[in-house]
Amino acid sequence: MSFSDQVPTEILDLARSARRVTVLTGAGMSAESGVPTFRDAQTGLWERFDPAELATPGAWEEDPAQCWAWYAWRASLVRGAEPHPGHLALAQWQARPGVDLRISTQNVDDLHERAGSTVLAHVHGDLFALRCADCGAPADIGYPHVVEPVAHLDPVSCAVCGGLIRPGVVWFGEALPEQAFQDFRGVLQRFGTQLQAGW
Ligand SMILES: [Zn+2]
Repeated sequence: MSFSDQVPTEILDLARSARRVTVLTGAGMSAESGVPTFRDAQTGLWERFDPAELATPGAWEEDPAQCWAWYAWRASLVRGAEPHPGHLALAQWQARPGVDLRISTQNVDDLHERAGSTVLAHVHGDLFALRCADCGAPADIGYPHVVEPVAHLDPVSCAVCGGLIRPGVVWFGEALPEQAFQDFRGVLQRFGTQLQAGW
């Protein structure tokens, strides 16, 4: 049975004739590529840590080397994953002449981009867009390569101010990136959807 046999004809017709398409993706999209969802049970070294406690400004302030080591590990998992057919299908759809398809994602990985898509907004930040925790200057470096998880890795220092370089993700308790948030809101508004106050 082919994919098109499993999808109702009305949906297929709508998709084929659509000219303006908005796609919102979340953790399940990356999980299909083997990237563990944020709230999945952690294994091995990180088993006893709660991701919701590691991904906070407080965790960074308390132990930046531990936080950096955890993100270096997560980055290595992402680098080891490949876009799946869903990512590729979106990229092909986006490339179709006459189609305006905009992708907003809650995912911090780069699987959409590696599939060939342009992502309008990473509303929870971008794992690989490293920046200084103090002055905010972008850092043109990558994570250290880790084959096995390690408990601590010293973060790199900012070339501008000497502060520590941090992941480009949005931590619990932090504001969403302004531009990504505005882009995301713009997408919803073109469908007449208003964000609830306090969202
Ligand atoms: Zn700095």
